Amino acid sequence: MLVTDGNGTILRVNPAFSRTTGFGLDELSPKSWRHLLDTTYTDRETLREVLRARKGNQYWRGELWCRRKDQASFPALVSLSTYHDPLISEARYIIVFSDISHYKQAQAKLAFLSKHDPLTGLSNRDQFRFVLSHRLDTGNPSNLWIYCIGLDRFKSINSSLGDDAGDQILQQVGKRLLTLVGVEHLARLGNDEFAVLTEALEDAEEQASHFAMQLQSILAEPYEIDGRPLFLTAGVGVAHYPDDGAQADDLLQAAQAAMAQAKQSGRQGLKFFSAELTQEARSHIDMIGHLRGARERGEFTLFYQPRLADGSDQLAVEALIRWQSPELGWVSPGEFIPLAEDTGLIGDIGRWVLHEACRQGAYWNDHSLPVRISINLSVEQLRHADIVDDVCQALEASALPPELLELEITETMMAADPEAIITLLRALKNLGVSLAVDDFGTGYSSMNYLKRFPLDYLKIDRSFIEGIPADPDDCAIIRAIVALAQGLKVRTVAEGVETPDQLAYLRALGVDEIQGFLIARPAPADDTETFLRSREPQAHSN
Ligand code: C2E
Ligand code: MG
Ligand code: MG
Repeated sequence: MLVTDGNGTILRVNPAFSRTTGFGLDELSPKSWRHLLDTTYTDRETLREVLRARKGNQYWRGELWCRRKDQASFPALVSLSTYHDPLISEARYIIVFSDISHYKQAQAKLAFLSKHDPLTGLSNRDQFRFVLSHRLDTGNPSNLWIYCIGLDRFKSINSSLGDDAGDQILQQVGKRLLTLVGVEHLARLGNDEFAVLTEALEDAEEQASHFAMQLQSILAEPYEIDGRPLFLTAGVGVAHYPDDGAQADDLLQAAQAAMAQAKQSGRQGLKFFSAELTQEARSHIDMIGHLRGARERGEFTLFYQPRLADGSDQLAVEALIRWQSPELGWVSPGEFIPLAEDTGLIGDIGRWVLHEACRQGAYWNDHSLPVRISINLSVEQLRHADIVDDVCQALEASALPPELLELEITETMMAADPEAIITLLRALKNLGVSLAVDDFGTGYSSMNYLKRFPLDYLKIDRSFIEGIPADPDDCAIIRAIVALAQGLKVRTVAEGVETPDQLAYLRALGVDEIQGFLIARPAPADDTETFLRSREPQAHSN
């Protein structure tokens, strides 16, 4: 606060004034209070208003830019009022001001946040839409490409590695994309989705797909999370102006629909928008609709695929879920399990699989066919549901001996919070069930932790079996996995064995169990029973 005489000459200041501005009274008196104003930032009209108010002895309140002793400017909320001192019968002006630079910074931050994504600092969806609309309205473009980029299986990475790691990945993705495209043409739409806008001189789809592949390859470089490398891929959907829409919203939707399709088609997918795509995206939504309540309506069944072990009487099968929808027909688990995971339906479906498999196993066991049944656990089940309780209950309800139950988890699940997973797996092991790592070789495992996981089986992924015995790389990988498993004293299972050559090669290497179409396809319980009884007629006839 400061007090001036009728001419505006400073007479008194309070300690808070000195603290804020750095000026003492001796440095200012007998200067005019206007000495404190920064006229470069305060606009002229405001200044005139203040002076008019002062002359007319009127109250004034507003924002002015002031200057500190070190010449730094700061915004201030100022009020001027007149005060008549009865003792000296002269007017005094009282000027009260407060430094509002913090508030201004907060305001600027809010303005920034309304247009940007706080995690990556990139534009958000609204801002991207605005830029795109503006480009369409005023730029009169002949040709624009909109790319929508989504990370493959990001959800499960987030679930298994934790939200912090997920955040780090998204930030790294943002930085990488910035090396290919200007900041104004890039946005994070939400979750793991990013959007890019480019303009091509000619209507060249080839150019656009080349650029999309560049986006994918820069995102496929390894990421470093807590000192460990992590590999990720991205699906890209592309929409074109003017073919796929005239408005920003339509174009964005088209690019997103194309991306959803790209991600459906496998890893590192790339799709251009087409009218059929909308149809497919719609069918995706339909599928979710039909999936809800499918369990209650009894539309799921379990098929069983035998696993054969050399020189052992132990019979084993893998339970694989099948969905027969009255509207859609047979839908493969590869299609609906990811949807069930996305929508949270997996908890209920997973519990059903567990109970049904245990019930069937107990039935076989009671009918002198002791078969070990393995079931697939989803990462979401490990994370959210109380899986130990669920397994306990399923074992109790069915009275299946625990040694006849096996749980399959994937490598990515183990990379999560390894210590926590070790504790969880030990608790499961304590129930007496066995544990297998599914699709081994496709994710990434820390060898250090692998030896601490209480594992019984490594299931070598089908993609490595395909190439043997001709492909030397696949052969080398399989030899390495078998050697690793033997070192860890873990048994091996080869998945997807289709030819006698593959079988011979795997047996020679010492792979413990074989699963694949060569032995038997997944089949309903009855057929599987017939198969199993015919394999071991002497030991398991009823
Ligand atoms: P997975 O656990 O790796 O299962 C093996 C898949 O390979 C099965 O596909 C099986 O039918 C197929 N397969 C087996 N032998 C051969 C072969 O010789 N050649 C070829 N080409 N394929 C073979 P399916 O039944 O379509 O299941 C796909 C995936 O869906 C499974 O992969 C598993 O990850 C998941 N899944 C299946 N049932 C369940 C379930 O009950 N719960 C959960 N969470 N996931 C499940
Ligand atoms: Mg499996
Ligand atoms: Mg597998």
